[in-house]
Amino acid sequence: MEPLIKIENLRKYFGVRGSFTKKVKAVDGVDLEIYPGETLGVVGESGCGKTTLGKTVLRLYEPTSGKVLFEGVDITKLRGAELKRFRRNAQMVFQDPHTSLNPRLTIAETLLEPLREHGVDVGNAEEYLAKQLETVGLGGEHLYRYPHELSGGQKQRVAILRAIILKPKFVVLDEPTSSLDVSVQAQILELLKSLQNVYNLTYMFISHDIAVVKYMSSRMAVMYLGKVVEIGESDEVYSNPQHPYSTMLLSSVPIPDPRLSRERKRIKPQGEPPSPIDPPPGCRFHPRCPYAMDICRTKEPPLVEVGRNHRVACWLHFKT
Ligand code: SF4
Repeated sequence: MEPLIKIENLRKYFGVRGSFTKKVKAVDGVDLEIYPGETLGVVGESGCGKTTLGKTVLRLYEPTSGKVLFEGVDITKLRGAELKRFRRNAQMVFQDPHTSLNPRLTIAETLLEPLREHGVDVGNAEEYLAKQLETVGLGGEHLYRYPHELSGGQKQRVAILRAIILKPKFVVLDEPTSSLDVSVQAQILELLKSLQNVYNLTYMFISHDIAVVKYMSSRMAVMYLGKVVEIGESDEVYSNPQHPYSTMLLSSVPIPDPRLSRERKRIKPQGEPPSPIDPPPGCRFHPRCPYAMDICRTKEPPLVEVGRNHRVACWLHFKT
């Protein structure tokens, strides 16, 4: 199957205030493929570059270098009407619905905005929007309310509907539940899964929580300091992590079964991630890795195959 999205050697660097030479290397050479109808999870600690990756793939940020192919077309070169067509097909749901919705617009105005922008005629707008609200579990009575009159979960439902109202093919979900009460998080995740089935959506699901990523995605990519360090089927990465950083992320996930919990290999988190302005040479994880060897401090490990559809960037797995 041809990928819907193909990311090739993508980099996004930001300038540092007060310096002409220093750069924040938020995304630093990422290659990924996302297939139609699947959910690719992207997981890592805060500051690893996952949100920047999502925004750069959608061209909300201009890439520093590299390519993003959408249905075979490099979207980093698109301008004008072509870019607008891409935007209709590729949307984002942001982490915090409290800030992503305009407080001065009613829910009806919020939902009409993208339709008007893309010249979509829906006939009777009130009737159409009330029906659309039902698809995200809200009633038509919400149409003329303002965001501050809605709960966090209701606001996120509206934000999700705004993202899919143009029937896009691809949606980046950036920590869509992390600002919500625990009691509504599961409902929003279920809603996202059911909308994916109904509209055949392809998702990039970004989260710091590897257990949530495993629940939501068929494959997952583990990111550390701007790079993908492990990628594979979610069940496989979750149950059989091969990169010490993935093991570290999994170490904090509680396991209800005491026997399985005892058997799980754990790596205690050591320190905080280094600055992406001046990442460590070699393997970027080496200052925190309990298995670091001499080569890790000088040479960057390539992503190598360690199993079916499972790749890891770690010298422990490199066979000469
Ligand atoms: Fe640890 Fe070396 Fe593997 Fe990096 S390459 S994760 S430092 S063992």
